[in-house]
This record gives sequence, structure tokens and C-alpha cells, in this order.
Amino acid sequence: MKILVINTGSSSLKYQLIDMTNEAVLAKGVCDRIGLEHSFLKHSRPGHDAVVIEKDLYNHKIAIQEVLNALTSKEIGVISSMDEISAVGHRVVHGGEKFKDAAIIDNSVMKAISDCIDLAPLHNPPNITGIEACKQIMPDIPMIAVFDTAFHQTMPEYAYIYALPYEIYEKYALRKYGFHGTSHKYVAERAAVMLGKPLSELKLITCHLGNGASICAVKNGKSVETSMGFTPLQGLAMGTRSGTIDPDVIKFLMDKEKMTIKDVSDFLNKKSGVLGVSGVSSDFRDIHTAADSGNSRAQLALDIFCYRVKRFIGDYMAVLNGADAVVFTAGIGENNDIIRRMVVAEMDNLGIKIDEQKNVQARGKEMDISVPDAKVRTLVIPTNEELAIAREAKKLLK
Ligand code: ADP
Repeated sequence: MKILVINTGSSSLKYQLIDMTNEAVLAKGVCDRIGLEHSFLKHSRPGHDAVVIEKDLYNHKIAIQEVLNALTSKEIGVISSMDEISAVGHRVVHGGEKFKDAAIIDNSVMKAISDCIDLAPLHNPPNITGIEACKQIMPDIPMIAVFDTAFHQTMPEYAYIYALPYEIYEKYALRKYGFHGTSHKYVAERAAVMLGKPLSELKLITCHLGNGASICAVKNGKSVETSMGFTPLQGLAMGTRSGTIDPDVIKFLMDKEKMTIKDVSDFLNKKSGVLGVSGVSSDFRDIHTAADSGNSRAQLALDIFCYRVKRFIGDYMAVLNGADAVVFTAGIGENNDIIRRMVVAEMDNLGIKIDEQKNVQARGKEMDISVPDAKVRTLVIPTNEELAIAREAKKLLK
């Protein structure tokens, strides 16, 4: 069984074709600058150099067609025809309160995803465009939607209801949803394998630290609390997002800086976070370089980021009444030993203590980096959202 996984953004489309008999990636790539000048498809297969095909990708449908052409091509393809694809798994950002699990896409599921556009105006529309383009080109292949929000639908009401007049929740479903659910679930499952215990008996704190970053408290395999909220802006300081701030800052900025509400939203989502504090970059590699050469604002950005992560871990230790493991994943969590060290520094009284040598060695591979007698294990686990989506799709096809 081969499953094509699609992750559509407004001007990009990432794909992976996975053979589910051994979970091997047969090919993967990205269509970039869709609808813009100089659009291209980058296609790679294990054991071969990546191929870049410059092509006018006027819209997502043309992009999907190009992906299928590449996958079935004599020269760079990996399958002989589209019929070898058993299903297409789509990453969908927001499933609202409707989707607690992945779903086979039919008309009612499409309508429900459209109904969530208000909740994710930047993300759900391109996801819908991607699904529609695939349906047009592959009308007979089952499509499955896997939602970033679904895993967090197990949060208790007292965790997801904001302390606002309750009617506003009833009217708009305005509440905490949480995101990165596919990743938190995947690494929680891997943590259980690494710890040699059933997930149903574990308390985990999973830290997805990438450009977007969120933390999740996972109790017995279920999300009970997470740091992102109604939107992915809440919680940690991130690459360009402020994370949680005093909401009255918005009014202050509008008054003093003569910003419109849209300006403030852009300010908090795109110009803040470690980019805003450092003035250097949203990429942690650049920030480390600047901090190492004496840029104090770059160092401050790193300190703020790590301090927030530490505070959330402490928060979730309280929520869970202690944890079996803290898991680091995503670009920063998997690769950045300096950030991991800073986050868990002086947490030994909570049972968290890492072996610095192991920490430095852990880079993009699964590893327990704790000292042998640490009560709470610290694990590095590379996330694999595409594989998680393919697994969900396979489960539903059965
Ligand atoms: P997203 O998927 O949310 O766009 P990623 O998970 O790719 O983000 O994470 C991006 C961040 O990860 C960047 O800040 C980058 O500096 C960091 N990162 C990625 N790879 C490495 C690496 N090899 N070493 C250090 N940091 C890395």
C-alpha cells in the first residue's frame, strides 16, 4: 500500500509518497512559489540527487499534476501509474470541535473543514484548495484529512475554556484548540516505545520546538493541556510570534503606535518572537552566531525562549503531578543541544537532569539524554508528521 501525503500552504505544496509495507519514503518534494514567478518543483528520491524542475505552477491543481508527473516519470519516477496510490493523506490545520480524529473526506467533511475557515483563515483555505485539486486529478482515490487540532480534543473543559463570558464560546466556539497535534501524538507514541511502557500508563511533556513551537501535556496517551490556543499565537515565544502577552498590550500599541488591528496582528505574528527581540533573525542558527559574537539582544532572545519553555514544563509537571519524560522534537528540539541544555538547567529538583555528553551527541536521532538516575527521562525524538499522517490514512482505509 502506497500513500501520498500532501501538506498545502498558500504558495507551496509539500509531498511524500510512503510505502506502508515498510514505511519507507519512496519520494518526496515540494512545489514552491505556486501562483508566483519562478515557481519550481523539487523532487527527491533516496539514493539520488534531488531534481529541480522549473515550471509555471499557476495554481495548486497544476502543481499536483506536476507532482504526479514526477512520481510516474520514466526518468525520475518511483511508480508506474497513479493507480498505485491507495490514498492521499492531507494535513489540515483546523478541525474545530468537529474532528477528534482523522476523517475520510466526503462532501460533509469538506463542508466541516470550510466551516472552520473563520478559525484558521490563513491555513484552512490553502488546505481546501489542495484537497480540491487532488480530488479533480485523482477522483477515484480516497482522500483522508488529518487535523493538527484533533489530538487536543481530549483536553478537559476547564483547560480549553477561556475565562471570558461563556456566551462568546457558545456563539463562536472561541476556545483553546492547540496545534501540532500530529507531531505531539507521534513523539508520544515513540516515547512509549523508547521507555518500554504502554502509552496508556505514561505521563509525558512533549516540546515541539520549531519555527512554530508548542508544548503538550500527554496523560495516558491523551492531550490534557497544550500551550497554543485559539490560534497558534498563544504560548511560547517563537521564531516570529510573541506567544502569550497581556492582551491590553494590543490597545496600548494601537494608541501609541497608531496601529490598526491588522497591523497589531502582523506585529505579534510576524515581527515578534526571537526575531523581534534579537533584531537579527527568526532562525536560531543565526541568533546563536550573533549571540556568540557578543550581541546581547540575540542572547536575550535565547534566554526568553528557553525561560518560557522551562516555565511551561514546570506548569505541566504540576498539571500531570510529575512526568515520566520530557520529549524534545522539531527543528530546534531535535538539533539544538544549547537550547535543550538551557531549558533543563537547574531542574534537577524536579527530577530532570541530562548527561551533557549525550545531549551534544543527540542530533536528529532518537536518544535518551538523561543521566542514569534521573527520575524524569529527557528524550530527543525526531518528529515525522508525514509518516503519522500516512499511518492515520492507512488506519482509516481498513
Ligand atoms: P517549521 O517546520 O516550524 O518551519 P522547523 O521544525 O524546521 O520549523 O524548525 C526551524 C528551526 O529549527 C530554526 O530556528 C532552525 O534554526 C532550527 N534548526 C533546524 N535544523 C537545525 C540544525 N541542524 N541545527 C540547529 N538548529 C536547527
